[in-house]
Amino acid sequence: MNRSRVLKGIGVSPGLAVGTAYTISAEGPDVTDRVIAPECLDDEVQRLHNTIAEVRTHLEELRERTRERAGAEEAKIFDAQILMLEDQEFLGEVEGLIRGHQLNAESAFEFKMLEMRDLWSHSTSGTLRQRVADLSGVQVRVLHRLLGDAVMPAGPERGTTPVIVFTNELTPGLTVQFEKDHVAGFVSEQGTRTAHAAILARSLGIPCIMGLVGGLDEIDAGTNVVVDGTRGVVILDPTDEEIEELRDRERTRLALEHELEEAVGQPAVTRDGQAMTLRGNIDLVEDVETAAEHGAEGVGLLRTELLIVGRTELPSEDEQLRFFERIAGRLPDFPIVVRTYDLGGDKFPAPFKVAPENNPFLGWRAIRVCLDHPELFRSQIRAVLRARASADVQLMLPLVTQVEEVTRTRSLVQECAADLRREGVEAADDVPIGAMIETPAAAMMIDLLADHCDFLSVGTNDLTQYSLVVDRGNAQLAKRFTSFHPAVVRLLARIVTDAKRMGLDVTVCGEMAAEPLAAFMLMGLGYRILSVSPGRLPLVRWIVRQIDTQAAEAAVDGLADAQTALDVTQHLRERVAEHIDLDLLELGRLPVMDSEATFNV
Ligand code: PEP
Ligand code: MG
Repeated sequence: MNRSRVLKGIGVSPGLAVGTAYTISAEGPDVTDRVIAPECLDDEVQRLHNTIAEVRTHLEELRERTRERAGAEEAKIFDAQILMLEDQEFLGEVEGLIRGHQLNAESAFEFKMLEMRDLWSHSTSGTLRQRVADLSGVQVRVLHRLLGDAVMPAGPERGTTPVIVFTNELTPGLTVQFEKDHVAGFVSEQGTRTAHAAILARSLGIPCIMGLVGGLDEIDAGTNVVVDGTRGVVILDPTDEEIEELRDRERTRLALEHELEEAVGQPAVTRDGQAMTLRGNIDLVEDVETAAEHGAEGVGLLRTELLIVGRTELPSEDEQLRFFERIAGRLPDFPIVVRTYDLGGDKFPAPFKVAPENNPFLGWRAIRVCLDHPELFRSQIRAVLRARASADVQLMLPLVTQVEEVTRTRSLVQECAADLRREGVEAADDVPIGAMIETPAAAMMIDLLADHCDFLSVGTNDLTQYSLVVDRGNAQLAKRFTSFHPAVVRLLARIVTDAKRMGLDVTVCGEMAAEPLAAFMLMGLGYRILSVSPGRLPLVRWIVRQIDTQAAEAAVDGLADAQTALDVTQHLRERVAEHIDLDLLELGRLPVMDSEATFNV
């Protein structure tokens, strides 16, 4: 068989690791059904409970170990697994299977676990889907123990060279089980950046790659490998030159990391004295911590869908208020821009019964859903008005395509404010309203929207999707999804020019703003407020501080004749190289933004 020597997955924990491959299956042992004699059923149920208790103790040990090695927050990851073993309803169902079908404990447990796994992996909640590996961690441990094995297979012996563990599904337990000088890297067929095991690997500083589909078939135990967790690449039997080249890159990465650490705490001002405002995009309460640590001047996009998606009931007004207050409390001196529910497309919460649509992304989405469900919208608006009594909370509408969407929202805001006054509830009388510019329709009527809006914010993810007719989540079209397409660049230029003419602030809050070349271009186009995911703030701050706006403006002038996205990036790269070390800049790039992004080892 002609195997490839270079395998590509998703880099989820940066760094370089060299070692010998060791494979571990997280699939768990084979289980055979056995019939239990009626008089032995009590013993069988007892055996289940004893095992659960043993595994629980083992998980508590792992939690403690994680607390020592990675920290208290990371240790909480094991709480979820321990809770699974305390779920009386679930254990009652396993017991029911044993008694009702005279089934052995391991078969009953496995059956119920597979049922749960199926439910979670098909859930609309991304959070549940990401937690499937946690379930596997519990399942494998309990099954091993029920079969009389150790809670986990022993794992690699400590030898003279470190080991790289290859597994089908990296679980949190496996990640913390070995010391770094023993297991230097992980490669997992399943999982993404947000998996618990990925978070742990990052905290422990162990390079890790996930999503390497078919990786186990490609590797023989004992093979020499190098894992580049920054770019998600594994090289089998690497040559000395290859290792040296990767070490060089690693040194550059560390140099960039050092530069970024230095940038945090410095003002976001260009070389020629132009101040930029950098804000954070927030999905979860936790994100605001990173945003504050990285000097965010407010929240430019507070997504609210997670309050509702994956739940069986809508959040109450008070719960929403607490959510806004917690975020605002951490960034008290700055605006917090709450985006109204961006439901629809693929994000529909359980409380909505929605008929399937042929083209959900062109369908009943975002502001359209909110306006059609005033009861849902009112509770969000009321919570925002109440939060605004003590903080600079603002309201932003996603996927605007009509002026009426803004004017109808404004009427609802006035009605809600009047209701709150009548009820004697402490709340603001009004709130600044902004439209997201995410469609060519909105981009072409900035002047009309300006009459009704207090600010604008460009959602370049959707703007790119709807301008280029490229589903942003379709991997097959990933190369076509680029915000450097000349049509998108022209729209961006038009938006900022029109907004300035109308005297409106305009932010860019799509992913693009966190991409080094794009940030350079956006500054040249005239954007002065960028909102990015909190982890990218140091990078954007660093770029701002290297640049001079006149050079960025000149670079943008040179884009007028660009025919393709490649022309745009090449031109920007040449111009930016006059100010920034390109090797460092390349490391900070987001490949998804760039249709030319190819990978060469
Ligand atoms: C966007 O579309 O660019 C945006 C910021 O919103 P979201 O990614 O949540 O759709
Ligand atoms: Mg959007």
